[in-house]
Amino acid sequence: MDTKAFKRNLNQSQNYYRKGFGHQEEVAGVLNTEYQSSLIQTIRDRNYQLQEGNVTIHLAESFGFCWGVERAVAMAYETRQHFPTEPIWITNEIIHNPSVNQRLREMNVHFIEVDADNQKDFSGVGKGDVVILPAFGASVSEMQLLDEKGCIIVDTTCPWVSKVWNSVEKHKKRNYTSIIHGKYKHEETVATSSFADKYLVVLNLAQAQYVADYILHGGDKAEFLEKFKNAHSEGFDPDRDLDQIGIANQTTMLKSETEQIGKLFERTMLQKYGPTELNQHFMSFNTICDATQERQDAMFELVDKDLSLMVVIGGYNSSNTTHLQEIAVEYNIPSYHIDSADRIDVENNRIEHKPLEKDLEITENWLPEGPIAVGVTSGASTPDKVVEAAIAKILMLKNAPAIV
Ligand code: SF4
Repeated sequence: MDTKAFKRNLNQSQNYYRKGFGHQEEVAGVLNTEYQSSLIQTIRDRNYQLQEGNVTIHLAESFGFCWGVERAVAMAYETRQHFPTEPIWITNEIIHNPSVNQRLREMNVHFIEVDADNQKDFSGVGKGDVVILPAFGASVSEMQLLDEKGCIIVDTTCPWVSKVWNSVEKHKKRNYTSIIHGKYKHEETVATSSFADKYLVVLNLAQAQYVADYILHGGDKAEFLEKFKNAHSEGFDPDRDLDQIGIANQTTMLKSETEQIGKLFERTMLQKYGPTELNQHFMSFNTICDATQERQDAMFELVDKDLSLMVVIGGYNSSNTTHLQEIAVEYNIPSYHIDSADRIDVENNRIEHKPLEKDLEITENWLPEGPIAVGVTSGASTPDKVVEAAIAKILMLKNAPAIV
């Protein structure tokens, strides 16, 4: 399918919106009240540090709502204002944050149901219904379906995600295979891969190394296909489809790993084809989003401080939040990933949290006695109000309620 032509036509359709509806000012006021926090602003103003009683809170210097998320949430609110009576749907969580998604439900925005096989059920969506595409985008087939149904599409896809799609289009134009650093099930990667003709999704450096070794030395094709089951395009053949490759990424992956993977494949193709032919076999564009970079860089600065523990706040299915947690773990700092302040039980000094790649678990007496320094950060989908609530509970637990 000519995805470029499809997107071009969609852009020109009268039923397609990718900018706001002119209610920015009203919506900004509402969003401020619902999601911003004066406590967090005070901590920012105090050089990202708050000292109360025997607790020092160190806030990351970049955290929380990114530009793309703010824009998507604002567009969703504007859509409700602009279409006050029409049924409004969203193809997925607008962003990976439970409180924001709950707020949209309260505004009578319906979420497309997903069945046990992870298939979305669009049967309830009718002609003229308004459908919002989330910040991490939607697959070409979904957009096509909604367009054919005669829906009004409000596309909040972050421009950084669109930038990756453009890279994939460039790979496709030259018949290259897109190697996408991402999670093959993540909505953004599903959308990105839908723009490619040939693609392979690698999760991490270890998988990338396996592919690089295969490129240089060949290997067991059946094993390769089994290892990347569900993570490649239909009919993908590693013996045929890895001689021209372009690199793309899910925007929220660990920046250092995306860079390492890009360099690994560049070295691999250089070794196989030599410098004069490299350009005919390898393509790479920098598509790591600024917000992801800044939040990860701020986390590296935070873990350098003398911390007793870390609290990382964000949706459990939020890729960028999980990567912040990975950094804390890498630096051996006890770290608790929570999706809301409700996970902290002040009465019993107990926290329900999600360790990396594990199910939720409860830790008793998680806040040590005596003076403590707590690092706090949050993913790009987390409102400041949620961070405020978590900090307030930490202070309460230490009998040091914020007096700011
Ligand atoms: S994390 Fe980056 S790509 Fe994702 S919504 Fe925010 S700015 Fe856009």
